Amino acid sequence: MAKVVPIADLRVTRDATLVGATVQEVTPTGLLADNRGRALRDLRISVTDRCNFRCVYCMPKDVYGHDYPFLPHSQLLTFEEIARLARVFKAHGVEKIRLTGGEPLLRKNLERLIAMLADIGGLDLTLTTNGSALSANARALKAAGLNRITVSLDALDDSIFRAMNDVDFPVTKVLEGIDAAAEAGLSPVKVNMVVKRGMNDHQILPMARHFKGSGHILRFIEYMDVGHTNGWRLDDVIPSEEVVRIIGREMPLAPVDANYTGEVAERWRYTDGGGEIGVISSVTQAFCSDCTRARLSTDGKLYTCLFATTGYDLRALLRESDEDAPIGNYLAAIWLQRADRYSEIRSANTVALPKVEMSYIGG
Ligand code: SAM
Repeated sequence: MAKVVPIADLRVTRDATLVGATVQEVTPTGLLADNRGRALRDLRISVTDRCNFRCVYCMPKDVYGHDYPFLPHSQLLTFEEIARLARVFKAHGVEKIRLTGGEPLLRKNLERLIAMLADIGGLDLTLTTNGSALSANARALKAAGLNRITVSLDALDDSIFRAMNDVDFPVTKVLEGIDAAAEAGLSPVKVNMVVKRGMNDHQILPMARHFKGSGHILRFIEYMDVGHTNGWRLDDVIPSEEVVRIIGREMPLAPVDANYTGEVAERWRYTDGGGEIGVISSVTQAFCSDCTRARLSTDGKLYTCLFATTGYDLRALLRESDEDAPIGNYLAAIWLQRADRYSEIRSANTVALPKVEMSYIGG
């Protein structure tokens, strides 16, 4: 495995400050646009920084060992706090919320949070999971108001999958979870496969063959330089173009228009009617220019980019007062000055910059 750089816990880095901006009263119109004209539309919420997998490229065991200082419960946002923030974000334009982590299904009674978010109304609710607890929970998640689900699965071959999750978790259980989600009505289920050269690239075709015609949408994600623990190198990235070429040679593909502006996956359909796949080219084709996403860490810090180094502390505001307006004003001030475009400027020099781990900020 590539050299792992142990992190000094990046969570204790300073909070971001609003450079040159004053927090003014902003009436929520749902029409906030940032410094580069990008609207605020999506919010990803990390509901826990813990995970039961130790995927070698995300939470490697030698960093996230038994003594790893995960956040204590008191520092996590409560469900009530998350729902309160969701209302504020919605007023300022958010239409879609994705619950993630860590492994979101490790957070106890998650359906209760989903029901609270569904009660707000008008939000597209979705969740990203490793699928390990999905067969047991799919129906309850759907009943609580979850609209859709994305399951991460990096290999179909059981021994490769066990080695990648590094906790010896069998692939059959995840496949059962995917079926349970579809049966519960959380379809089409999206299946995300991160492709890393030399690790699982030979699984591209078996995965494509398996999910073709299943009604699930398999999406291939370029391996990214998130955080510092995975020893990322550009050479490890398999460009999406290559993925499309590999699959297209055996199962011909044709491009499909995006569902909406800002959709991260580029869509391709099997020309024989076997459904579609997606490719997410986070490294080779940056999609910063229409990125409408904000991220909320497990302990309530707002990040305006997956590659941001510091977050804005919303939890302090939540716990300071019952009033929502100051939180909305702060959010507006942050979004109005947002200028992030990390993936557009990614280079050999940016790889070493301080970054926050994905399990904390939410994948
Ligand atoms: N535990 C959940 C799961 O497994 O889906 C949610 C959190 S996980 C961090 C979210 C997604 O991020 C997973 O699909 C994972 O494969 C992906 N991911 C983690 N590290 C990545 C990296 N370096 N590059 C690309 N995707 C990554």
